[in-house]
Amino acid sequence: MSESVLRNVLYEQSLDAQFIYNSQGILQCNPAMAKMLGMSNSEALLGRHPAEFSPQFQMDGGLSSERWQQIETQVREHGKHRVEWLFRRTDGNEFVCEVALTAVQLESGDAVVGVWHEVTDRRIEQEELLRAQTRLQHALRGGDVGLWDWNLATNEVFYSDQWHRQLGEVPGTLSEYVDWESRVHPDDLPEAISRVKALLASTNSEYESAFRMKHASGVYRWILARGQLFRDSSGQPSRLLGVHLDVTDQKIHEQRLSKDLHLSEVMLQTLESTLRVTSLEGLSQIVCRQARRLCSAEIAGMDLCHTPNGKPAMHGRSYSEKHPTYQAAERSSETVVQSDAAGEAPAESEPTEHSDDIALCDFFRSLDRAVVSLTAEQLRSHPIGASFCEATAHRPALRGLLVCLLIDGEGQTLGAIWLSDKETGDFDYEDESVLRQLAYIVSTLIVRLHAQEDLRSQTELLDESNEELKQFAYVASHDLQQPLRAISNYAEFINEDFGDKLGEEGKRYLQLQIAAAKRMKKLIDDLLQYSRVSRDDADLSEVNMEEVVHEAMRRLEVSIEETGAVIRIDPLPTVRGIESRLCQLMQNLIGNAIKYRDPNRRPEITISAIEQPEHWLLVVEDNGIGIDPKFRLEVFQVFRRLHDGSTIEGTGIGLALCKRIVQRHGGEIWVEASAEGGSRFCFQITK
Ligand code: ADP
Repeated sequence: MSESVLRNVLYEQSLDAQFIYNSQGILQCNPAMAKMLGMSNSEALLGRHPAEFSPQFQMDGGLSSERWQQIETQVREHGKHRVEWLFRRTDGNEFVCEVALTAVQLESGDAVVGVWHEVTDRRIEQEELLRAQTRLQHALRGGDVGLWDWNLATNEVFYSDQWHRQLGEVPGTLSEYVDWESRVHPDDLPEAISRVKALLASTNSEYESAFRMKHASGVYRWILARGQLFRDSSGQPSRLLGVHLDVTDQKIHEQRLSKDLHLSEVMLQTLESTLRVTSLEGLSQIVCRQARRLCSAEIAGMDLCHTPNGKPAMHGRSYSEKHPTYQAAERSSETVVQSDAAGEAPAESEPTEHSDDIALCDFFRSLDRAVVSLTAEQLRSHPIGASFCEATAHRPALRGLLVCLLIDGEGQTLGAIWLSDKETGDFDYEDESVLRQLAYIVSTLIVRLHAQEDLRSQTELLDESNEELKQFAYVASHDLQQPLRAISNYAEFINEDFGDKLGEEGKRYLQLQIAAAKRMKKLIDDLLQYSRVSRDDADLSEVNMEEVVHEAMRRLEVSIEETGAVIRIDPLPTVRGIESRLCQLMQNLIGNAIKYRDPNRRPEITISAIEQPEHWLLVVEDNGIGIDPKFRLEVFQVFRRLHDGSTIEGTGIGLALCKRIVQRHGGEIWVEASAEGGSRFCFQITK
């Protein structure tokens, strides 16, 4: 086959479009060109311009000669031009071709030979790849993921731009293994290296490690590295590829969370141990030690001021091992309570190591906020605090101070709790918040302890005065009996021996005196009874209440007969009690029911019992004159009488005595109006 025939076959059979054109348009083209453009034959293309088929050169429905001119210039100047164009088939579908244009000289003049090679698939793939790459880059950047790819043979590492950015480095400046190693925190490096070594020596391929890396600004960031190990065909590790995630915020959060948890735990422990404390000294011991622990301080103190209600000042201290002498002193006498540390020189024999100048409450009062934090520097320049920076015989030199006032519910300053000499640097916001919480708990506990103390001393006072009163009542009534007996005896003698000489007036006076003496005797007897009940320490025994009522009635035989009183006794229980007292109780109640009878009807009295879950309820009901409901409570008071003594005899002690007896038996007594218009006395006896 001749060369020209071969060329013709190639031209005719080629899948690429081949053509030749000049200023007149396409002069000649192969069938592939017509096929590419979706045309039936190549003749239809003759005379047309190749740029007509590319939307790139179309503008406002026509050919953009300006753009085409640029191409022409390129071809003319360089003899050839390669470019990628977008074409449109007659059916409207588009395709991409690599276009090669070569300037040629024909007999007829200048022309251009063109070849179009379709690259639509490749172009789509490229675009896909580009899109995927852009997506990945956005994701890595957005997710702050740094990529690294370590070639184990050359020790070269590809660090992505984001990897650089995570460490504040200029993208593209780092590319070696040492760039990583030199930035890992010295404390974390041994572990980080051993993890890599362990991976290389193992059969695993998953890699995970966390360490701190130095940022260009000098601070360390927490990095979580994750990756995959690749091996060569002989099984040797060849490449370690993975990502870096900056987990600093997470780590800080985790650390804060575990610190908070620890804090809450210690706070709870403090609260728990302080709840059992019964003295301010004990409270101060626990609180000072816990405050020191919680804020890592070498010294802690708690100072309570004199309170307006006379509570003494109190100063507690706690020292760490850094201050051995004070520690020892603290152990031997945990806290020292003093009347007033301010100004009082400690006695030689009793060294009061807490009588230091910090204990001056004036210092705390001078603070304008509930929490004051002074760095070592600020303390040195503080008008009052400056003196604390020098050690004295009673305290070490203070390095910085964090003070929180203890304030009660009414806003009154109780004192302060303070810390000094933090193990590391100055006190920070977290220490302030811890001390504030602690101070809140402590203030509440101090108020509670003060209240308990007040209650204790009031109860003691009350017990004392009660005892004195009982003594007085007993002694007075007991000692009064003797002269009273003499008065009534002498009055009887005068009446018997000299009655006829006295005359009517004299006799009347004498009778009045005898009656007054009798009343007084009754009063003294009743008072004695009353004071005895509260001293009663007789043991409880089984008491049959029916028998008790019969005994009481025997004692009231005369008045029952005189008044014709009718007494109905319902079945009554056996209770645990003091028989003699219960008898006295029933005698008083039945006696009153007869005494305060309605003059117009015969006294009728019913005694009954009702069982209750924990008590027996006994009821004495009468049809007497009744009691005005407004005096329901008053009638049980000593000497309280509702009726004139000249008409109905009495001392006003009977019901008060009943109340004491009932209370001695674990119950209550009260009065209600009865259905008959009389009174209904109810009392309980514990089962
Ligand atoms: P006294 O009977 O010695 O006055 P009490 O302490 O026994 O003292 O009673 C106090 C007062 O209660 C009596 O003065 C009387 O006014 C009133 N009182 C007590 N029992 C009855 C009753 N059953 N009916 C009406 N009033 C009563």
